[in-house]
Amino acid sequence: MNDALCVDAGAVTDALSLEEQERVRAVLVTHSHMDHVSSLPFLVENVFGRNRGPLEVLAPQDVLDSLTTHLFNDALWPDFSQIPGQHGPSVTFRAAPVGIPFLADGLTATAVRVSHVVPTYGYLLADARSAVVFSGDTGPTEEIWAAARSAPNLRALFVECSFPNDLQRIADVSRHLTPRTLCMEMAKFPKDVPVYLYHMKPPALDRLAAEVAALGEPRLRILADGDDLTF
Ligand SMILES: [Zn+2]
Ligand SMILES: [Zn+2]
Repeated sequence: MNDALCVDAGAVTDALSLEEQERVRAVLVTHSHMDHVSSLPFLVENVFGRNRGPLEVLAPQDVLDSLTTHLFNDALWPDFSQIPGQHGPSVTFRAAPVGIPFLADGLTATAVRVSHVVPTYGYLLADARSAVVFSGDTGPTEEIWAAARSAPNLRALFVECSFPNDLQRIADVSRHLTPRTLCMEMAKFPKDVPVYLYHMKPPALDRLAAEVAALGEPRLRILADGDDLTF
């Protein structure tokens, strides 16, 4: 929808050039797990002193607390929000409200709690023309799908599908989806909106692709690294 807002930062510094990283104005964080924030310290470092205004790290307070306590804690990584760059701080941590729309770099974002082993939020992102939903890491859940059903101009759902069906037990205890539970969740999705699957565990990619194909659901597409979609 624009090139200045990221949802999570698991591999931003690998996926984007330095110039593209400098254009990032805000990162919406779904939760504190490493696969979602591991490149955030390096993004902050790479843009330090080069960005025109602070990079905003946005998430509900419980997620921010985890990031500042366990990551940007001056032990694992400096608390860059306390280090002034040429034009003031290079990064700010801003608490996002839950369930109430807020502005995130020109887009309207709404954080919705989902069902994972640490506090985790999906996001509904909207501009004047279109809206998309990111599920975050989640097992079976309700509220984010209700938000998707009532969102005007919804163009896409981005939904996690982490484990293949034979790892259902692992998926259940770690609160993730498999193709089997995804299929049940789809009954709650708005109709006729494409569903892009992501967060597939790399060792299981082939099995996941086969199990997703076996669902015979034309709405389902598997998102690949580097895919560039416009809404
Ligand atoms: Zn997670
Ligand atoms: Zn994850």
